[in-house]
Amino acid sequence: MFGDVALQSLLDYAGNGPVLSLYLNTDAVENRTEAVKIALKNLLKKAGLPEDEAAVSRFVELEWDWRGRGLAIFSSQTDGFFRAWPLALPVASRLFVAPRPYIKPLANLMDNYGYYGIVLVDKQGARLFFFHLGELVEQEGVLGESIRQTRESGSAASGRRGGGDDRTREQILRNLKEAAEFADRFFAEKRVRKIVLAGTDENVAEFRALLPKRWQSLVVGHINVNMSAGFNDLRERVLALGEAAERQQEERLVEQVFTLAAKGENGVVGLDDTLSAVHEGRVQTLVVYEGYEAGGWRCAGCGYLTTQTLERCPFCEREFEPIADAVEMAVRRVLADGGEVDVVRDNPSLAQTGIGGLLRY
Ligand SMILES: [Zn+2]
Repeated sequence: MFGDVALQSLLDYAGNGPVLSLYLNTDAVENRTEAVKIALKNLLKKAGLPEDEAAVSRFVELEWDWRGRGLAIFSSQTDGFFRAWPLALPVASRLFVAPRPYIKPLANLMDNYGYYGIVLVDKQGARLFFFHLGELVEQEGVLGESIRQTRESGSAASGRRGGGDDRTREQILRNLKEAAEFADRFFAEKRVRKIVLAGTDENVAEFRALLPKRWQSLVVGHINVNMSAGFNDLRERVLALGEAAERQQEERLVEQVFTLAAKGENGVVGLDDTLSAVHEGRVQTLVVYEGYEAGGWRCAGCGYLTTQTLERCPFCEREFEPIADAVEMAVRRVLADGGEVDVVRDNPSLAQTGIGGLLRY
């Protein structure tokens, strides 16, 4: 399982050579093997790191079992460093070469799809699921006393209907309380960060009120299903919540970039302005629309990137050479300067401009 420990190990990594970070969407509908291999080949072409390319190809050919919908791979063969994680969620295919592992896409996945606790609750008990990065990691159940039995024995003992109903009510509360206590331990043990409650409105409301406050504040959704719901139903609904959170996160970021750019503050939009800001080392977070590429020119002297055809570099007077993908160069430059890159999908504003950035100053 890719979790906090793995993420921290990538954050802490410091080696002597460049690190190749590869994210590969392996979720192709048709001709999956071919499609994945072609995508991989096209990405690796851009790296310019033959030993790392060989290590990645070796892994995909020989070690990976083709499970999952995405792959995250980090390689720095200068130091013999190699890590690979299959992911149950699709990721935007992208390759980064930088002094350190490029973890933003994984960190975003953890934010939006990581450490979910799901509780499916009814009057008698609860089923608990630990759901992480699109996968069911663990499940447990707690079952209290049967409600029907209590009702029958209650009616017989008291001899009047009201007494039986009270007993039933008490039993339900006891069961819900037991379920809440069980959930408390389960959530703590799994270190969940988001909680989804599933069940009828009535049961969920009562269960929620019995949960300790610290868990109540982590509830991000309620799914109205009955106890017989299959885990796959829950899975789809929880993934939809994750997707909504992901989209919101992206929208907020892009909106911030556009607003700041419009105000002439710390934001920039469009390829040329962004490339200038990149050259000046001002980009803190580069925002790139998934799949956006653009040819351009790079100064042979100082590395200045532009889409305009200029005779001489305005900074160092050297000549320009054509480059196939100015966006890729910008990504490398920002990462080398210690900035971040966010690859954004399904965002109409960014789809039009392709690229933008939050500036340091
Ligand atoms: Zn120059």
